[in-house]
Amino acid sequence: MSLSGKIAVVTGGSRGIGRAICQRLAGLGATVIVNYVSNPAAAEETVQSIQSVGGKAEAVQFNVAVAGEIEAAFKQILDLHGRVDILVNNAGITRDGLLMKMKDEQWDEVLNTNLKGVFLCTKAVSRAMMKQRWGRIINITSVIGFAGNAGQANYAAAKAGIIGFTKSVAKELASRGITVNGVAPGYIVTDMTRDLSEEVTNTIKGEIPMGVLGEADDIAGAVAYLASDDARYVTGQFIHVNGGMFM
Ligand code: NDP
Repeated sequence: MSLSGKIAVVTGGSRGIGRAICQRLAGLGATVIVNYVSNPAAAEETVQSIQSVGGKAEAVQFNVAVAGEIEAAFKQILDLHGRVDILVNNAGITRDGLLMKMKDEQWDEVLNTNLKGVFLCTKAVSRAMMKQRWGRIINITSVIGFAGNAGQANYAAAKAGIIGFTKSVAKELASRGITVNGVAPGYIVTDMTRDLSEEVTNTIKGEIPMGVLGEADDIAGAVAYLASDDARYVTGQFIHVNGGMFM
């Protein structure tokens, strides 16, 4: 499997799952644009980890929830590299709370980042990919988008929205050589899940047939497959990477 010569943009590539995706794609030969919003040090660490083993990467700051920032960033990326071959819509946040107590801001922040961000970034690369007649768009949803979760109505709605979005755009772009797929992680060890109490973590482990949380690299492998030529005839699909938690 080689991604040599490909230009890949990974939103939220600076930490956690996004970092592992950046490292994997760069390891396969892609030039990786590592997006971040607020933590330049983490993004730089990701870039360094790639460059130190001979890979190509650069950090680009933009907020996936802000249309103007995305337009400017993708213009800059396209001016510099002339193309974008792979887009991984990975950036995501949680603002958990039970429905009865959920504030409008919690809803809006999660929907704007996790769902509108996917729409805006996909739109921003679609014209260039259509001209190239080649593209790979990979959206990171979640087991929660399929199964739901108490305390995460906003997050589940956004992640379920990604599922319908992915299938619709896959139908629109298939004839142009562009595939649009998703990866649905279960519980993965990152900053997002690190603060869960031991009690909650043990409860979650009890729901996972494999009995352990996943690693960011488990997700990177699925993304690499969908980005590769091996997946050229796969579109509108989701790979569940969750230790058997949801089938
Ligand atoms: P982390 O919290 O570890 O990292 C989040 C990343 O997203 C960071 O790089 C962060 O950048 C970036 N980010 C957040 N908001 C924005 C924004 N507005 N614009 C651009 N970048 C942004 O998350 P994970 O690695 O755990 O999660 C990655 C994806 O996987 C998310 O979509 C998440 O919902 C999904 N997922 C995660 C699971 C898990 O168990 N961890 C399970 C299922 C799905 P910065 O460093 O600048 O803050």
